Amino acid sequence: MESNGATNTITIKGILSLLMQSIEEEDKSPKRVISLGMGDPSAYSCFRTTPVAQQAVSDALLSHDFHGYAPTVGLPQARRAIAEYLSRDLPYKLSQDDVFITSGCTQAIDVALAMLARPGANILLPRPGFPIYELCAKFRQLEVRYVDLLPDSGWEIDLDAVEALSDQNTVALVVINPGNPCGNVYGYQHLKKVAEMAKKLGILVIADEVYGHLAFGNTPFVPMGVFGSVVPVLTLGSLSKRWIVPGWRLGWFVTTDPLGSFKDPKIIERFKKYFDILGGPATFIQAAVPTILEQTDELFFKKTLNTLKNSSVICYERIKEIPCIDCAHRPEGSMAMMVKLNLELLEDISDDIDFCFKLAREESVIILPGTAVGLKNWLRITFAADQSSLEEAFNRIKCFYLRHSDQTHNILEF
Ligand SMILES: *Cc1c(COP(=O)(O)O)cnc(C)c1O
Repeated sequence: MESNGATNTITIKGILSLLMQSIEEEDKSPKRVISLGMGDPSAYSCFRTTPVAQQAVSDALLSHDFHGYAPTVGLPQARRAIAEYLSRDLPYKLSQDDVFITSGCTQAIDVALAMLARPGANILLPRPGFPIYELCAKFRQLEVRYVDLLPDSGWEIDLDAVEALSDQNTVALVVINPGNPCGNVYGYQHLKKVAEMAKKLGILVIADEVYGHLAFGNTPFVPMGVFGSVVPVLTLGSLSKRWIVPGWRLGWFVTTDPLGSFKDPKIIERFKKYFDILGGPATFIQAAVPTILEQTDELFFKKTLNTLKNSSVICYERIKEIPCIDCAHRPEGSMAMMVKLNLELLEDISDDIDFCFKLAREESVIILPGTAVGLKNWLRITFAADQSSLEEAFNRIKCFYLRHSDQTHNILEF
């Protein structure tokens, strides 16, 4: 392990608030702050949820029927609706008993890791990845082993590394698809190979599909659950990203496992007891889930995808104009991309963290250093922002580059 306690893990929110602080300390900063750091698109007016969802929550709240406790595993009608929603893309039907409702996908991650942790166990996490997994694993004393994603192969999972890193104490491999932070979308063939490798090694797959269906490139989204009869899959998701309502805290933990490996009464009992501790998200939000999943207009999804696609293209094109950053792979999904920093072209920048702090102080642009997601001297850029903010941010990054580049220095001295 690379650090020795849960408290040593840098969280995305932690580092972003430090970046914000450093802008505020610079009192003469006249520029509007642009954040391409956080994955919460609801901050931008071009990313609004659908009125269908708002109406559904409002109706549920005003009905007076949903002020009480729900079963801790979730309201039956919400579980059923999520089972049906996910079954649309699977070769088999999920039942409501496969679905457990969580407080966002974050809590689904916690459930998965809590249920798998046992003394001596280890888990395979993608690198770069989503820091909550590492944080959660450390609280559970679950050893973390990192599997590199390969930037030159569309950020595919290094399956040789999966095989080399796993042993009899490995419990699961985490697959985030569409990917955060890389913006990758895995094709059917790659996912099939992942499933076959997991089967060979006797480990589960935890499929983080919080960005499910947010694929705007040439590769269509395929849920990992399609391979549920090859290997047991735990599918994690939420309304947060596809419906742009991260604050509603409505997620799911689903056993996409047609062969029923999780159907042992002891396992089900353990799930239920753990959910008794968690208590579940607000009942009226759960009550709105059937309407949200069944009645959201296709046009809303199309519009979101179109906006994300255009934003990702702006980033991809503007990055090409700035020599010190390079986009390894054109994003095809999610809301973020990884960009490689070439420090040799910069005169007085020591690493990705230094780059991000100086950029924040000088240009009021916030970008997440790659170190926060496991890749030093890379940057994670969130493109879920409005187009004028993106254009302005890249204008400023370009100025920043010109000011700090080796070349400019020579020219100025000349
Ligand atoms: C945003 C995100 C989550 C957390 O989702 P919430 O529903 O907001 O809790 C989990 N995994 C990944 C990869 C994410 O990007």
